[in-house]
Amino acid sequence: MALINENYLQLPGNYLFSEIARRINKYKEEHPGAEIIRLGIGDVTQPLVPAVIDAFQKAVTELGDAKTFRGYGPEQGYSFLINKIIEHDYRPLGVELDEDEIFVSDGAKCDTGNIQEIFGLDNIIAVTDPVYPVYVDSNVMAGRSGKLGVDGKYQKIVYLPCTEANGLKPELPKTKVDLIYLCFPNNPTGMTLTKEELKRWVDYARANQAIILFDAAYEAYIQEKGIPHSIYEVEGAKEVAIEFRSYSKTAGFTGTRCAFTVVPKSVVAYDSTGKAHPLNKLWLRRQTTKFNGVSYPVQVAATAIYTDEGKEQIKKVIAYYMTNAQIIREGLQKLGFKIYGGINAPYIWLKTPGNLSSWDFFDKLLNEVQIVGTPGSGFGPSGEGYFRLTAFGSRENTEKAMERLQNISI
Ligand SMILES: *Cc1c(COP(=O)(O)O)cnc(C)c1O
Repeated sequence: MALINENYLQLPGNYLFSEIARRINKYKEEHPGAEIIRLGIGDVTQPLVPAVIDAFQKAVTELGDAKTFRGYGPEQGYSFLINKIIEHDYRPLGVELDEDEIFVSDGAKCDTGNIQEIFGLDNIIAVTDPVYPVYVDSNVMAGRSGKLGVDGKYQKIVYLPCTEANGLKPELPKTKVDLIYLCFPNNPTGMTLTKEELKRWVDYARANQAIILFDAAYEAYIQEKGIPHSIYEVEGAKEVAIEFRSYSKTAGFTGTRCAFTVVPKSVVAYDSTGKAHPLNKLWLRRQTTKFNGVSYPVQVAATAIYTDEGKEQIKKVIAYYMTNAQIIREGLQKLGFKIYGGINAPYIWLKTPGNLSSWDFFDKLLNEVQIVGTPGSGFGPSGEGYFRLTAFGSRENTEKAMERLQNISI
């Protein structure tokens, strides 16, 4: 008899996005012809930039000729891309990395989901609340979470609430934890940490022999000076942090798929006898066993992002989204909403008016002004009473949504 991994039974159904779809469909049935504006999407909408397309096409053509054809590449990624990452993403920040500290992959979702495999099952996990669900669910699947309580929290996971009370910035855990997932700029709140704030986490990790799993998927959206683009800008982070980056939001690669993870050779965790082991070696072993690399044309396309042309072009796309974010921020502020984010991230996190629940506010927006966003409660218990809007829509829809919002009754 084949037995299942019973940890999967601890997962709740994928309720959030299916429930959103259900409510939209119901509304459409009752109001045929209604024009719904979606500001809930976490996906980009602008096309790949010309520099990327050009490089992509040339690389595809190479594969059609026996003289330039390529089969399997290195599992960790081609040197031509890794060297651009070192030179353009890290050296300007004063961060020196070796080639074998960077692992190119097909997504930060898989890497943030898979990284837990190299850690023991007895580690205590800490996550911010609200949170990107992948960090929690991947640990549930592995059996690190314990049971889901009626409060919406897994018994063994330490939740770090990010609410109005702490300005949506997580406080250090009160009990000892071993693995800490941090994402800044944050999805869903759009908040960032200063270097000093991030340093407290690095110091905590160093003092407690803990590891920080730092998701920097939205690094390219940082507009203000003084916000760290990489955790390695913080002194000592190279001993305790793994960093995840992705071209998905940076350069519209959500469908093209390319990302990378940085595992400095100086980051160690311990075996049961207390002996230190470099995590770089474990991740290399994991990737070379279970992953066969990102396709050649995609890595060539990603490399084009680092040309002068490519940089210029993706900067414009990010500026387009960030103008949307500003339009949303201003529109909401004019109406008296309490809002967060949207300055260094494409997400705007708002407090629902009149203490409405996240879902009640979802229904109100849909029914009164036909705008769809994402209920904050879908990102964790502390997201209740909040709501996420994104800047990834078109300019036209973003402006139209803010006009319509003026007719909402609050
Ligand atoms: C979109 C997103 C990613 C990127 O995932 P990919 O698999 O690289 O597309 C990673 N982390 C967070 C928090 C995200 O929102």
